[in-house]
Amino acid sequence: MAVMHRPPPGVWVDPRVEVRPSAIEGQGLFAAEPIDAGEVVVELGGRIVDQAELDRLIAEGTDYVDSVTIDVDQHLVLPAGSIAHFGNHSCDPNLRVDRPYRLVAGRAVARAEELTVDYGTISGADGFSMVCRCGAATCRGVVTNDRWRPLA
Ligand SMILES: [Zn+2]
Repeated sequence: MAVMHRPPPGVWVDPRVEVRPSAIEGQGLFAAEPIDAGEVVVELGGRIVDQAELDRLIAEGTDYVDSVTIDVDQHLVLPAGSIAHFGNHSCDPNLRVDRPYRLVAGRAVARAEELTVDYGTISGADGFSMVCRCGAATCRGVVTNDRWRPLA
């Protein structure tokens, strides 16, 4: 299957974004300054692998594998070392994918607010399922790949 848009090799995160302890899980990404609705916050990059290669990388276990599903059987594996890895899931997220490899603020984000994305919209891997403790009023309890759609 052809990938319509080649990803850049690296990940860019807006310099207003900081890593801080999160009430959702471990550490998270937070807005050190207000961010307007529609502003680009993260540009994703890395390399594209198929499901078999993704499974192999995860089984290998040498690096934490952070991936975003771009198309059917096309997973973008983010490079190690980016703070984008700390992005937590919320069932009521303030970031959304507006085109392949780009996350924008879906609404205005206040200073010190945690930046979140709906993993269900970016994780199309077979069998993806995660118990959620995001605390949103609309929390689904278990997040699966059922909301994922091809980005490419
Ligand atoms: Zn939730």
